[in-house]
Amino acid sequence: MQKILEVQNLSKRFGEFTAVDDVDFYVEEGGFFSILGPSGCGKTTLLRMISGFIPEDEGEIVIRGESMKGIPPEKRPVNIVFQSLALFPMMNVYENVAFGLKRMGLDKGEIRSRVTEMLGRVGLEGFESKKVTELSGGQRQRVAIARSLVMKPSILLLDEPLGALDRKLREHMKVELKLLQKEIGTTFIYITHDQSEALVMSDKVAVMNQGRFEQIDTPKNLYKNPKTSFVAGFVGESNRLEVRREGESLISPSGWRIRKPGLMHEAKLLFMRPEAIVIDPPESMQDIERFPVTVETILFDGSNTKVSARTPEGEELLVSLPQNARYDRLKEGDRVEAGIHPDDLKVYEE
Ligand code: ATP
Repeated sequence: MQKILEVQNLSKRFGEFTAVDDVDFYVEEGGFFSILGPSGCGKTTLLRMISGFIPEDEGEIVIRGESMKGIPPEKRPVNIVFQSLALFPMMNVYENVAFGLKRMGLDKGEIRSRVTEMLGRVGLEGFESKKVTELSGGQRQRVAIARSLVMKPSILLLDEPLGALDRKLREHMKVELKLLQKEIGTTFIYITHDQSEALVMSDKVAVMNQGRFEQIDTPKNLYKNPKTSFVAGFVGESNRLEVRREGESLISPSGWRIRKPGLMHEAKLLFMRPEAIVIDPPESMQDIERFPVTVETILFDGSNTKVSARTPEGEELLVSLPQNARYDRLKEGDRVEAGIHPDDLKVYEE
């Protein structure tokens, strides 16, 4: 795979404050790359440097082998879709999508054929003369994407484009956007603070925290093997416990203790996924660490059942139950055994 974008040691400061701190990564041609991080971590600042709206203080942005130093936004082979979408309310769908092509001075015939083709690709054929104010949120979203893609950018930058949509539509658009990207093949760089959006859509995700990238990985690896405690806490759900190490055991302040064979380094934080903890593990499950818990609450939300369980020392643990008839009889107040494989005990020194 060819690298379409290389970002090398990029930094941006606002006065004393470092918004983007020595960020280094590349994106492969045709990839769906997400930058995931909490509000204020520097995502938008990074995107604005890639698009050329603000200059970098240090580092280099290279697109298709060409340095972007000194190249203004309109000359860069990138386009942005903003959360606000920034559509022109007075114009209809066709005029919105044609806007950039008209400004480029293309002839009418070419504009028509490119706009028509793009509206077809995003599933908006027949909507040409509709006002954008008459469209649903999802349709407006697709107009904004069509308006950017019709310019044939090498890279499409998307800045929280689903943020303004309601939950149901967001779930739907996640799948649509991923399918659209695969079909069109344009490289997407997608910014979000929503870990589920990043995990569902991306080939690669960079987790950003306080201006730095903590981990760049496939969604699966990020979830299964978070490299830092920030990633472990930010991506997916986890039980987080402060611990200290004593030999091969981890001990929480309440005195709850679990063995982690082979543990060599110091320990400060322990993360356990709710689905990694097994309630009432069968005898056949060997190599797991077992401990008693009391079932405090059973949380059933339709597709999932979770249990809030408490250890005798008082640690509260959230456990996801797999769909299995053997748990049907489980009720609040039950004292049961729980187990977890030591590999699923994710331990961090800070
Ligand atoms: P959000 O998800 O809330 O948009 P973000 O991760 O995109 O957050 P940025 O907008 O990149 O974060 O901002 C990163 C930090 O830089 C913030 O603390 C912000 O206050 C600061 N910042 C951004 N732009 C400027 C500016 N022009 N002048 C001073 N500080 C700025």
